[in-house]
Amino acid sequence: TTLVELLQVTAAAANEALNVEDALQICLGRISAHTGWPLGHAYMLANDGSETLVSSGIWHCDTPERFARFQAVTSETPLPVGIGLPGRVLASGEAMWVLDLDAESDHSRAGAAAAEGFRAAFGFPVTIGREVVAVLEFFAAETQAPNRALLNVMANIGAQLGRVIERKRAEENLREAKDAAENASRSKSSFLANMSHELRTPLNAIIGFTRLIMRRAKDVLPIKQFENLEKILLSSEHLLSLINTILDLAEVEAGRMEVKTSEFSLESTLDLCLRTVEPLVKSEYVRLVKDFEGLPETISTDQEKLRQILINLLSNAIKFTETGSVTLRARAVGDRIALAVIDTGIGIPSGALTLIFEEFQQVDNSASRTHSGTGLGLAITRRLVTRMGGHVEATSRLGTGSTFTVALPLDVAEAGRERPPGFAGRRVLIVASSPFQAPYLARRLTRSGASARVVPDLEAGLAALPGA
Ligand code: ADP
Repeated sequence: TTLVELLQVTAAAANEALNVEDALQICLGRISAHTGWPLGHAYMLANDGSETLVSSGIWHCDTPERFARFQAVTSETPLPVGIGLPGRVLASGEAMWVLDLDAESDHSRAGAAAAEGFRAAFGFPVTIGREVVAVLEFFAAETQAPNRALLNVMANIGAQLGRVIERKRAEENLREAKDAAENASRSKSSFLANMSHELRTPLNAIIGFTRLIMRRAKDVLPIKQFENLEKILLSSEHLLSLINTILDLAEVEAGRMEVKTSEFSLESTLDLCLRTVEPLVKSEYVRLVKDFEGLPETISTDQEKLRQILINLLSNAIKFTETGSVTLRARAVGDRIALAVIDTGIGIPSGALTLIFEEFQQVDNSASRTHSGTGLGLAITRRLVTRMGGHVEATSRLGTGSTFTVALPLDVAEAGRERPPGFAGRRVLIVASSPFQAPYLARRLTRSGASARVVPDLEAGLAALPGA
């Protein structure tokens, strides 16, 4: 190969290599093949920050085992900057040639090389910018005059390899960072899930015993103390609901949430949600409106999650509406149900419309805000909706009101299944001898609009084609 070809081939191969080791291995092999020098090796800069080269363990050897002793010495000989050929390449950042290894008596490794019968060596740096990150070295038995052209090409290959190493390292760092982040997020969710679970147990005891005292000692307790107990109960229940919310979120995050599908009456479930939130309407100026039209009898999805979604949206709407109405609208649209919670409340600034679906995000994050809440309701709502194969979005005008729309498949299982493409009006020829599979496939295709014909073998298939 010519030098230019060598350069092109090594650059291309190094670029396609899966990792740094492969790229180095490929280059060593190509260069050895080109020069006819039997042994090549890569020294890498130690990653402890010291200016020392350590063997990468990556070799190209034209006859395996032949130089085993020298390889062993090399693997045990780190080279500080300036020592040996690789150390000098590291110091100067330039490709170098050694004509007479015998003269290299400054360290033991040169002696081992000479003992293998090597007379000459050359080495070149792999560079990222100005920094040398590795040194590739090659050995030959005959003394050869320095070859300038070859050294120039090596410098070039070194720069190319440097770029590959830089890119691969960046990729590796990214992958590690991503894995670490995912791990951390999983542990966080798992911690939250366990922790909230642990918090609920003592809290339930507090609630239970407070109720017990209130029931048993109602007649003997001074009225003031009874009222205090009521406050304990109220606060505990509030705390419990907060913990439950966090637990929900953590369970969704930790991937512990399953969709439990059942078929149930849609309208009565929606009615139930409205009745559940009715007590939350504190103002006589707010009406709760039901607007259902053309609904299917039943829906096949996770009933508990549907309830949770609607109660979240309805209670938000009620919380942020002082006058006017909160409407639950439901329509069937194709194989989906479109639900909307429409309020005439304070509205949401357009910049916050997507933000509010993130955890702990509230339009008013200030301590002095007038509305209570954790900022978790919508985050949970969105996760639930997504798990049920639907999507949720919000539109709003400040001061006029907000609309939260949820679209859900009428049949979760059906929506999850892969649907065959439309085959209406198409003719399909199935060549298969299987007694069950082929007719089954034909039936499915027929159901999606195709006319299907089954033939038992290729010959019959070919025969059927001209008439098709
Ligand atoms: P929380 O209600 O507990 O604060 P959410 O996640 O349910 O948490 O809501 C996040 C924020 O989105 C609320 O704090 C509020 O600022 C805004 N928001 C949600 N629903 C409405 C609504 N119907 N009208 C106005 N603002 C809303």
